[in-house]
Amino acid sequence: MTNHKNVCIYCKSIGNKNNGGIEILGMYICQKCEHEITKIDCDAENYLYYVNGLKKVWCCLLD
Ligand SMILES: [Zn+2]
Repeated sequence: MTNHKNVCIYCKSIGNKNNGGIEILGMYICQKCEHEITKIDCDAENYLYYVNGLKKVWCCLLD
C-alpha cells in the first residue's frame, strides 16, 4: 500500500486527511478548498475553476 502525502487537486497544497481534508478515490481536497467549495456562489468568478476540478473527480467516479 502506498502512503504518499496527498496533493490537493485544486491548490496543489500538500496535506492529509488528518489535517481536515477529504479524499475521494485517491484524490485529495484540502480543508481550505473543501471549505471554498461548500460556500461557493454560482456567480463567483472561480466557480468554473472548482467545477472543472470536480469534473476530474466525477470522471473517475463514473469510470
Ligand atoms: Zn487545496
